[in-house]
Amino acid sequence: MNVLVINCGSSTLKYQLINTDTEAVLAKGNCERIKVDGVHVHTTTGKEKIKVETPIPDHSTAVKLVLAALTDKDNGAIKSLDEIDAIGHRVVHGGERFATSVVVDDEIFAAIEECSDLAPLHNPANLIGIKACMDAMPGVKNVAVFDTAFHQTMPEEAYMYGIPYSYYENYKIRRYGFHGTSHSFVSKRAIEILGKPVEDSKVIVCHIGGGASICAVKGGKSVDTSMGFTPLDGLIMGTRSGSIDPAIVDYIADKEGKTAKEVVSLLNKQSGVLGISGRSSDFRDIDAGVVEGDKRCKVAFDMTCYQAAKLIGGYVAAMNGVDMIAFTAGIGENDTMVREKILSYLTYLGIELDTEANKCHGEERMISTADSRVKVYAIPTNEELAIARETVALV
Ligand code: ADP
Repeated sequence: MNVLVINCGSSTLKYQLINTDTEAVLAKGNCERIKVDGVHVHTTTGKEKIKVETPIPDHSTAVKLVLAALTDKDNGAIKSLDEIDAIGHRVVHGGERFATSVVVDDEIFAAIEECSDLAPLHNPANLIGIKACMDAMPGVKNVAVFDTAFHQTMPEEAYMYGIPYSYYENYKIRRYGFHGTSHSFVSKRAIEILGKPVEDSKVIVCHIGGGASICAVKGGKSVDTSMGFTPLDGLIMGTRSGSIDPAIVDYIADKEGKTAKEVVSLLNKQSGVLGISGRSSDFRDIDAGVVEGDKRCKVAFDMTCYQAAKLIGGYVAAMNGVDMIAFTAGIGENDTMVREKILSYLTYLGIELDTEANKCHGEERMISTADSRVKVYAIPTNEELAIARETVALV
């Protein structure tokens, strides 16, 4: 079966065409600067990468470009659109309505629209992508895979915030958690590696990339995670502050004559590792700064590792134990220094790092010693493949 995986952002569309029998990527690419001007980069596996600058005024134009590139006579991956059997869409927010992936019909489309209030930058773009695919390929099933769905198993004590209950009842304010597709994919693999019955397993997944979240997975189910009502909560990230005292918002607003919305935007875009280091949101630059002895890069580095270790410690308590800690995403899969520093806080768990094995980048590897009481692994995430697998399971 061939599944087209689509991930629509507010001004981007990323895609992969995956043969789900072999799990081979047949083609991939992205459209960027949608509504601004437009760039389309496409690579059919085994052929040359093609980059075209062309106006992309909206997401349906982007979908048309993608389908044309996939079926291009010379550089395409397939002969006709008939060879696309189903489409899997990443959808950011499924609210409390969606605890699993679903085939999209009119009723589901409307229900996703209702969740847009909770993710006003993302869900509308996701829906435009779904609609464009429905129009371009009527008869082909579209599946929505939600970033929030995996975390719908969290218990109340983990997802409620300490604010009047009516805000939960009236506005659905609670912890939702994100990166669910990645946490689900990586924890499944971790449990496979452990070789334990799923119901007895306790895994902590550290998804640390530009965005970062940590998730406690007990018995194969998410029981707590660090992102919250929005992806701003939890661990310090590339440009996001992570958790801060909420009274800071009002204090900055007062001092600088800003609205709360403007302060939250600052917390999303100019804070985190970028804001602390004053240098970069890219962790490779932070590592370089640490090596050069840059003080603020060191603060950003130390904060990231300290906060991650505190969250892990909290999740060990939440699950009353842990069998495996798995690192994933850009930093988690690649950054030897970050993994080593985080694990240095956790020797009390009987964790022993294998410093040689820890020098791995983007591959699956055990980075703890054979004797380590808790196993530690680097496990590459693959959200596109996870979406393709979910899509096949549903159609
Ligand atoms: P997102 O999808 O959230 O943007 P990614 O999972 O792609 O994030 O991760 C991006 C982050 O990973 C960047 O901060 C980048 O610096 C970091 N990263 C990528 N490769 C390395 C590496 N070799 N060493 C350290 N950090 C890396």
